[in-house]
Amino acid sequence: MIRLCKIFSILIIVLCLFSGCVQVGSADDSPHIRNFFAMDTYMTVTAYGENGKAAVQAAEDRVYELDALLNAESRDSEIYSLNENGTATLSDDTASVLKSALYCCELTDGAFNPAMHPVMRLWGFTSGKYNVPSNESIKEALKLTKPSKISLKENKATINLKGTEIDLGGIAKGYTSSEIMQIFKYNKVKSGIVNLGGNVQTVGLKPDGSDWSVAIDNPDSDGSYLGVLKTHDKAVITSGGYERNFKKNGMTYHHIIDPTTGYPAENGLVSATVVAEDGALADALSTALFVMGEKKSENFWRNNKENFDFILYTEQRKIIASDGIKDSFKTELEMKVIS
Ligand code: AMP
Ligand code: MG
Repeated sequence: MIRLCKIFSILIIVLCLFSGCVQVGSADDSPHIRNFFAMDTYMTVTAYGENGKAAVQAAEDRVYELDALLNAESRDSEIYSLNENGTATLSDDTASVLKSALYCCELTDGAFNPAMHPVMRLWGFTSGKYNVPSNESIKEALKLTKPSKISLKENKATINLKGTEIDLGGIAKGYTSSEIMQIFKYNKVKSGIVNLGGNVQTVGLKPDGSDWSVAIDNPDSDGSYLGVLKTHDKAVITSGGYERNFKKNGMTYHHIIDPTTGYPAENGLVSATVVAEDGALADALSTALFVMGEKKSENFWRNNKENFDFILYTEQRKIIASDGIKDSFKTELEMKVIS
């Protein structure tokens, strides 16, 4: 059901993005689009112009390549092998994602933690066999989520505490969308957009010279939006507990874990969206802001405002947006601007 809703909302977003931007009659402006399923989500990759067809094909191939390296659940992946053996010589891609993940962990004071795999497994998010663990088992698993036990020197990664395991699920799609932007640029695509399960990244302007319109999902109502952001050359990435969860005894448990408790983060937010040039950073920070909640996110932004902007949707159904995007984000909801 969640997946169906997601497909529907992505379709709506894509329709919204394309409305008014296809100029019929000009071959150079026609979109080349590929839809496919990877990294556990539906993806749409779109490039305009004469190199668009080759670019979207290369982008799709690149997604499969990165998925095969980074998926901690796949026995053939580099991350699986690192988690199993405690040491591995990584490809440049895996090393680069792990490096960004460790950097974002430090930047966010551990709110983004790439070592959450033992706790994710306990809750059943790695297998789909969901279960509410005992307090005791969560306490034990938390001892294995210390990022300080992961070292990375050049491409050589080592896990220095047995049982500690890496999970790059909170950053991999953002890294991937940034890599697709590189493919677009290499292919001289001046106008392109990717939507990796609601994680959007754009290169250039729309073919008609205007900004892209990126709709931010409203989880309260299928197919509707919190608002629309006008943007270009940016990643727009949202995290929210509504994206993946299960119900047990009337409670809902979602997939974004507060590293300080080992339980799904409940800090007053329904979703957190980050807008940044770098997709990996936007992805990691959207997860981190969701964990931090409103006040911590605001303070964090004040100390790092040159690197990103944000849109938070609170449990009180209010929008909080940072100053840098206040003029480009249009919403019907009540919006507080942070400066
Ligand atoms: P996202 O949808 O980008 O917010 O990422 C959620 C995914 O990141 C989860 O499915 C886990 O794989 C992983 N994850 C969960 N909690 C955290 C956390 N606190 N820090 C980093 N990654 C996390
Ligand atoms: Mg994320």
